[in-house]
Amino acid sequence: MRPLIVALLLTLICFDDFKTTFAEDFAYNGEMGPEHWSEHFSMCSGKHQSPINIDLVNVISRTYQIMTFNNFGTKPVSGEMLNNGHTVVVHFEYPENRPTVSGGPLDGKFVFEQLHFHWGDNDTIGSEDRINNVSFPAELHMVFRNDKYSTFAEAAAESNGITVLAYFYKIGENDNESYNEFTELLEEIVTPDTKAKFQEPPTLFQLTEISITQYYTYTGSLTTPPCSEDVTWIDFKTPITISAKQMDRFRHLNTYDNTPMTHNFRPLQPLNDRTVFSSIELTWEEDGNDNDIIKGRSAKPFVDILYGGAVVTKTIDLSNMIVMLLLNLLATTISLN
Ligand SMILES: [Zn+2]
Repeated sequence: MRPLIVALLLTLICFDDFKTTFAEDFAYNGEMGPEHWSEHFSMCSGKHQSPINIDLVNVISRTYQIMTFNNFGTKPVSGEMLNNGHTVVVHFEYPENRPTVSGGPLDGKFVFEQLHFHWGDNDTIGSEDRINNVSFPAELHMVFRNDKYSTFAEAAAESNGITVLAYFYKIGENDNESYNEFTELLEEIVTPDTKAKFQEPPTLFQLTEISITQYYTYTGSLTTPPCSEDVTWIDFKTPITISAKQMDRFRHLNTYDNTPMTHNFRPLQPLNDRTVFSSIELTWEEDGNDNDIIKGRSAKPFVDILYGGAVVTKTIDLSNMIVMLLLNLLATTISLN
């Protein structure tokens, strides 16, 4: 009898584990949809939730320290994508250290965990945060945990435990070559709980070849249950370009009820007492005496510990440095006159 009871108990435990990991614990429609999340996950009704609409009239400009992106140019040794029934999640393994991000609005160093996506039925909707109520067709979330904590779950339960780098997409004429293998692999994970492996896993920079010196930042939450708060959001202003065909591949994934995953963004949440900040670029301001003065000096040429080829990024870095030097020179000349 005893082994039977043990076996039964084990089955129950495993089933419960299976349920927590794989069964539909939330959805974007119906009885498990966003308006019901807080019935099972109390934090989803918190006062500092994401996503939000970023109303540019109310955004406050702020100078931040340079952001540091370590190992964003490092090639992973392997990479795997999973259809988890809600989105496609990508995990990478690195030869040594994982990518980290620090500086800017961040308090501490944050270690890369995973990246995933949100998208909509068509190209006019899909992003979670919106700018002046305008949506982008999709949004990439790179999720990082504070290196003070050893697991994502531990970090999510703590204040200042998580940061998300958010990148919007826009549709362009041509395929984004860095997404070729990625979008092909999407065809292999149409069914929930299926995985596919990258032959040539991309670096984080290859997935996001944009200027990363300009961003909005605010304090919000995870946009899926358990909706943990005190997450630092960094939304880059420049969207990544992919083609309409590449975008459309996302919409062919299936959810647990075997319907296409056409819509996986959470509705907007109230801003309440929060402020959204904008990183300051070099700007000129009239001082009333015909002299221009530099208002912000934080063009923030970002610093990467370069491993591997982040060529595009180096160029951005260099051009920012040149602009800064020229502007400084000009400011010095003006003040000498
Ligand atoms: Zn997300």
